[in-house]
Amino acid sequence: MPRPAASPSARTPAPSPARKALEKLGLTRDIDLALHLPLRYEDETRITPIRSAREGETVQVEGTVTASEIQMRPRRQLVVTLEDGTGSCELRFFSFYPSHQKAMAVGERLRARGEVRGGFWGRQMLHPAFRKAEGALPAALTPVYPTVAQLPQAYLRRAVASALARVDLPETLPPGLEPPLARFDSENGLHRPWGLRESLLFLHNPAPDVALATLQDHSHPAWQRLKAEELLAQQLSQLVSKRERARLRAPRLSPAPGAQALHEQLLAALPFSLTAAQRRVGEEIARDLARAVPMHRLLQGDVGSGKTVVAALAAARCMDAGWQCALMAPTEILAEQHFAKLIGWLAPLLAARGRQVAWLAGGQKKKERAAMLERIASGGAALVVGTHAVIQEQVRFRNLALAVIDEQHRFGVAQRLALRQKLQHDGMEPHLLMMSATPIPRTLAMSYYADLDVSTIDELPPGRTPIVTKLIADSRKDQVVERIGAQVAAGRQVYWVCPLIEESEALDLSNATATHADLSEALPGVTVGLLHSRMPSAEKKAVMEEFKSGRMGVLVSTTVIEVGVDVPNASLMVIEHAERFGLSQLHQLRGRVGRGAAASACVLLYSTGDSGRLGETARDRLKAMAETTDGFEIARRDLEIRGPGEFLGARQSGDALLRFADLATDTALLEWARAAAPQMLDRHAALAAQHVQRWLGGKADYLKA
Ligand code: ADP
Ligand code: MG
Repeated sequence: MPRPAASPSARTPAPSPARKALEKLGLTRDIDLALHLPLRYEDETRITPIRSAREGETVQVEGTVTASEIQMRPRRQLVVTLEDGTGSCELRFFSFYPSHQKAMAVGERLRARGEVRGGFWGRQMLHPAFRKAEGALPAALTPVYPTVAQLPQAYLRRAVASALARVDLPETLPPGLEPPLARFDSENGLHRPWGLRESLLFLHNPAPDVALATLQDHSHPAWQRLKAEELLAQQLSQLVSKRERARLRAPRLSPAPGAQALHEQLLAALPFSLTAAQRRVGEEIARDLARAVPMHRLLQGDVGSGKTVVAALAAARCMDAGWQCALMAPTEILAEQHFAKLIGWLAPLLAARGRQVAWLAGGQKKKERAAMLERIASGGAALVVGTHAVIQEQVRFRNLALAVIDEQHRFGVAQRLALRQKLQHDGMEPHLLMMSATPIPRTLAMSYYADLDVSTIDELPPGRTPIVTKLIADSRKDQVVERIGAQVAAGRQVYWVCPLIEESEALDLSNATATHADLSEALPGVTVGLLHSRMPSAEKKAVMEEFKSGRMGVLVSTTVIEVGVDVPNASLMVIEHAERFGLSQLHQLRGRVGRGAAASACVLLYSTGDSGRLGETARDRLKAMAETTDGFEIARRDLEIRGPGEFLGARQSGDALLRFADLATDTALLEWARAAAPQMLDRHAALAAQHVQRWLGGKADYLKA
């Protein structure tokens, strides 16, 4: 219940910085304010006699001011003495205004709340909150809301209280669809589902006898109810977008089988046979492509699991049916690296049919680009490969039917939306295949990615040797360099990845350059190459060629090789300052070795810096790397260490993230929401719409991308 003292008229014109801050926090509708829940609470419901206030406790005391003076030592401060008949307490303020002195003049009756300090001079509080002692004590705990500097807590409290008083909160959950109750350990007999209104009113102003721990860890039934509602809104919005998509039409790509079919020829031309997992996901994709509904599928598989071939086969089916296919990677070098083999396989087969491959990238010469655009528009190019440039405005496809996006998590939501919009024509939408080497943990797949169909390659091609990962302090760098020398002497090749220096590409570069010089000097007779993001692409290409050909023994690089480079003869990877990299980034990097038959190793060189020890999360990351090479296990630990934001990549708009539910602990609620969403949509469409609107407002669109 809003406290009486805290609900002045809502029509009071707001000082505009505060109102602006409200807007910035997304608190525009009454319901938004009602759903803005406290971080914690203050207990102003009780008065503690001064004599029984113990050191270290945060209490509220009430008494009369018996002295008030400004002391100059040790520094200027206002010292007010408060007495309540049981004892006295000094209130000290190092920053104060004349208004403070006036409010705390001798004779005033005050309530002060703060932490009690013992001290030689008796009890005191530093900068306590205080107010005139008048009116009844509040009956409920006082909420403390998440806020920003321009938005004073008191203002926000009033805004929330008046919104709560106004807002209409009809239940949207139909009877029979109640969320499950968490096992709630309570003495209060709270083993019953709570309604939405009841939950919200309670969480804003809980009764003082509540077990605070259940509010803190969100296990209280009121919290459970809100988390369930939030998860349901997310599931509903994704289900709606999935169903909307199912109404769109897409070209059916079901080529007639036969020896002449491109995909059959491709299979025959491959120097290996597909793994069972590749065959399975290949069939899942083929089934989607054969339907007149656009595919929206995520192909996930660990680094090196062979996603590219699967994409190539899908592309072949598309081209077999006479349509165009586009392949995109987030950067030029990745596009080139990822698709080089694929083009090598497909280009001759296409050429035999009089069709071509077109290449599109940002840094292209005008003339070349114009020629490519022409090729794409005329349909001469069956396969279009490149970066985001592929979805730029001027690019006109003749008949695009399949778009493959590699490393999909690096594409922003806006880009993916643009892609889908751009690719729609005549009410038709192309099939979309997104590939990711960062496996999505199950709970994420069930929540943020619920609108996608997921295919998983859960098996590596045979003949890979496990990678041994070693953690080595950088004080032992010399030994590592020695080992590099031995590897190169044995005919193997080595990657050396330079530290990532946040926010400074220039530093990144100078670092890589220095390392390159050091290694060149330490390894006479070995060709040491350098690759970094600032190099012109022709130069990058040349360096990569040298390394691929085997003439270059060691490749020093910044993280440009992070994904996609494929040199089976490289068997050692050294990552400098490994403690600065994220877990999935380390995993991706490590996946660059162990691609051939030779035993491979990854050395994580770490530095403890001046402190002499690693931070906790850095230690967790390195430990995880040393303990497992399983991408799914790595992803699970990464989720634990960093939370979901990082996984969502560009999707991680704060708006789209769950505010209340925690995927690590709320699995039962998530399962419930997943099962409830289709039932609700089928049987209670109006309530479902109302529910999504309430929780997501204008943000629902964003979740659809
Ligand atoms: P990723 O899933 O990381 O994109 P790639 O598609 O780049 O993996 O494949 C990694 C390497 O494995 C490539 O050299 C590829 O040619 C090879 N490869 C893919 N499938 C198989 C297979 N079934 N048998 C043997 N090698 C394969
Ligand atoms: Mg790949």
